[in-house]
Amino acid sequence: MIIGRVLDNEKRVKFDTDVFCTDCGKKVPGGLQTGESYYQTQEFLVELENFKKNYLCGVCRDKKRRN
Ligand SMILES: [Zn+2]
Repeated sequence: MIIGRVLDNEKRVKFDTDVFCTDCGKKVPGGLQTGESYYQTQEFLVELENFKKNYLCGVCRDKKRRN
């Protein structure tokens, strides 16, 4: 999954972080990617926090869409 900003032709940084579905609490497998120049910036850290706070797994996202 890619979050944040990746510039054209920019290398991506792959990193692992624990992300849990905010509804069912399921842990999301795999790592995340973002652009090299964005990684670890203040903006990046805020975005990562928000991403984690709002994350829904595929199942819960489908559920929400149906309701
Ligand atoms: Zn879920």
